[in-house]
Amino acid sequence: MDIFNDITAIQNITYIVASILFISGIKMLGKEDTAVKGNFLSALAMFIAVSVTLVDIVNPMVLIGGIAVGAVIGSTIALKVKMTSIPEMVALFNGFGGLATFLIAWSEFNSVPDNLFQHVLVMTTLYIGGVTFTGSLIAYAKLAEKIKIAKTSLITKFFTTIFYISLVFLSYSIFVTPLIDTSFDFFNVLLILTLLGGIGFVLPIGGGDMPVVISLLNSFSGIAAAFAGLLLLNNVLIVAGSLVGASGLILTVIMAKAMNRSINNILFVGYASSSSKSSSSEEQGEVSPISVSDAYLILESASSVLIIPGYGMAVAQAQHVVRELGELLEENGTEVKYGIHPVAGRMPGHMNVLLAEANVPYDVLAEPDDINPIMDSVDVAVVIGANDVVNPSATEEPGSPIYGMPIIEVHNAKTVFVLKRSMSAGFAGVQNPLFFKQNTRMLFGDAKESIGGLVSEFKD
Ligand code: NDP
Repeated sequence: MDIFNDITAIQNITYIVASILFISGIKMLGKEDTAVKGNFLSALAMFIAVSVTLVDIVNPMVLIGGIAVGAVIGSTIALKVKMTSIPEMVALFNGFGGLATFLIAWSEFNSVPDNLFQHVLVMTTLYIGGVTFTGSLIAYAKLAEKIKIAKTSLITKFFTTIFYISLVFLSYSIFVTPLIDTSFDFFNVLLILTLLGGIGFVLPIGGGDMPVVISLLNSFSGIAAAFAGLLLLNNVLIVAGSLVGASGLILTVIMAKAMNRSINNILFVGYASSSSKSSSSEEQGEVSPISVSDAYLILESASSVLIIPGYGMAVAQAQHVVRELGELLEENGTEVKYGIHPVAGRMPGHMNVLLAEANVPYDVLAEPDDINPIMDSVDVAVVIGANDVVNPSATEEPGSPIYGMPIIEVHNAKTVFVLKRSMSAGFAGVQNPLFFKQNTRMLFGDAKESIGGLVSEFKD
């Protein structure tokens, strides 16, 4: 065995070790107490995989330079990003993963041997990578509210048409062009159609469905990376890409289920048209505001309280003061639980992360299926910056844009406090009939200040 074969063998063994670390790391991410360790293990696996790849590279300085530039940009963004903007960051990172595989496939196009399997691989990798790249940029822009283009607009229709044309063209490029000799430049046309098609894939999808789309694009970036691994005959890329592809797909299915939507409905039907949106965004009666001191008197005599956090708790960074309130209620003899909706906030597990950061014990967190059946026995449901995930229109109004999405049915509790700053709508842009119900009291103001006020009342 010469030195190069030895190096390849060592590389492959190290890739297996890295793959085992990846899989163990992902498994550990499933539980809160092992999640940090799991994250570290996966990062270590990536470091090992990248280091061992450098060993037989002709000019490792180019790669090291690329890694250094990427590391500086990536860590600067990650350090600066607000917790509430993580989904946008994930969307961008997915996009760059897609771009990397798109470029790999592009560079491999001219160097691959004349072999149908390689040809299919190059075309498919190029397509998935390209669609993931531009699709993720649109997902980012939609989430960050940098673009607002209606689903029914001409621009959307134009790009959607291009998306379907790109699919037809991809099939043609895969199956027909290898068999015929033509001077037409199929490859360059496919390059352009792919990038425009990615825009058309995401543009018609409603903002409320973006979490599912981002998770799907994450899965696409993994699949594209696995295909690129096949192209480059790199085992660790195949394993890591497959892991991302499979886990992204599982998360997509879980989130679609949480919103009671099929993937097909999310991708090709979306939320109802904007006309129904405007009708349900009108106010629906009188609301009953409540002051902090009156809210305290009711909480003080409650024997069970359910806290439902949402995006507004993340904006207000109220998680620590919420934990403090929970503890004071418990000291007062009240049973306290937290109702966690799977799509509350702006990323999967957003509320779990915030509450874990504030040291709220895991065993007091409950899922909608566990609390909805016993909601009528809850004395006070305290909704902290949540809106869509407690909107009864989702179960009561078949015409509502969010109809069908499972919610935490706080309207069935004896009393509901809603903590928010104004009457403005939630992420889906629809008004919430909960605010106008007889058992609802609106505690207007920033969530951190309102909860802080309640904490002070308990302490006085
Ligand atoms: P919503 O976005 O529906 O509502 C959040 C509410 O918080 C708003 O009505 C806002 O009202 C209030 N709020 C904002 N800032 C503050 C503050 N400082 N203090 C008090 N209240 C505040 O949030 P939900 O969590 O109920 O629902 C999540 C929505 O986001 C769903 O539609 C989901 O599909 C979508 N989504 C979820 C993602 C995920 O992965 N979890 C990702 C992307 C989207 P006001 O301005 O009046 O204060």
